[in-house]
Amino acid sequence: MIVDGHNDLLLHLWRGEPTLHLDLDVALAAGFSGGFFAIYIPSPNRPDPSKTPYEVPLPAPIAFEEASRIANELFDELCALPIARATSVSDFRDGEITAIVHMEGAEPIAADLSNLEEWYGRGLRSIGLVWSRANDFAEGVPFRYPSSPDTGTGLSEAGRALVRACNHLGILVDLSHLNEAGFWDVAGLSQAPLVATHSNAHALCAASRNLTDAQLDAICDSNGVVGVNFAVMFLREDGLAVADTPITEIVRHLDYFVQRMGVDHVAFGSDFDGAEISAELGGVAGLPKLIDRLRRRGRREDHTRQLAARPRRHVALDLHLSVSDTLT
Ligand code: ZN
Repeated sequence: MIVDGHNDLLLHLWRGEPTLHLDLDVALAAGFSGGFFAIYIPSPNRPDPSKTPYEVPLPAPIAFEEASRIANELFDELCALPIARATSVSDFRDGEITAIVHMEGAEPIAADLSNLEEWYGRGLRSIGLVWSRANDFAEGVPFRYPSSPDTGTGLSEAGRALVRACNHLGILVDLSHLNEAGFWDVAGLSQAPLVATHSNAHALCAASRNLTDAQLDAICDSNGVVGVNFAVMFLREDGLAVADTPITEIVRHLDYFVQRMGVDHVAFGSDFDGAEISAELGGVAGLPKLIDRLRRRGRREDHTRQLAARPRRHVALDLHLSVSDTLT
């Protein structure tokens, strides 16, 4: 059973475009049991790093009213899919695809948090404080290579209140896209394990979106999880968005994470339908190829036992299943 850290299928459906990577008709047979389905309000100025270095300025903020309207429409797209929505880990079942409702960028949440509980009631269980562009709560990293993730200021007071409220309700706070100051603010504040749903190792690819060793250590120490992002521009050492990139680039980051944090703390965060991925992988149907590549690298049986022993400290984190149970 693979529970994946991130996909942008809803955006494609909302735009009336066919999926690029996440064909639900073949997903189950490929081992995909669902995961974090993003409600993401799009911005212009996405990067096109066909050459490096690159630097894309942060897009303009999006007003609450507009974000709210689009988020409702994206949520309707999710509700129209023939898949279940999870509010606890027991909602994941063999033979079914299940969605965790995730907001990538908290713009649809009012700055006074007055509609947060309403979203929780609709099934929201994960919030990325930012999708890179600044909002009332925090500021993310601009797409930049090479670059440290230390690119701006940390959380606002509203951002700190949102983290506390998420802890209280049992909503996962996703650290992907956040700048380093914001990351450490959450690390100092949150009572829950730290989770980055779709981020890679900065030591292997020096993009602003990737996590430094110190950040990985903090995630590990909190009993948290990182999902390896399949976006080639965050995998490759040269930072280029080149589809002609072998699957072994994903394995390289998985290996690094496992070595640094232990397999309990590593997952997939595919970014299907949200990024350029390896042509060799192709999409969700390529997952068995990736699993096979991992198996052939001789993962150990005891990784699965480690997963089973992992303490259950956070209701939203329980929804995540580590990549390790695919490795034996
Ligand atoms: Zn993202």
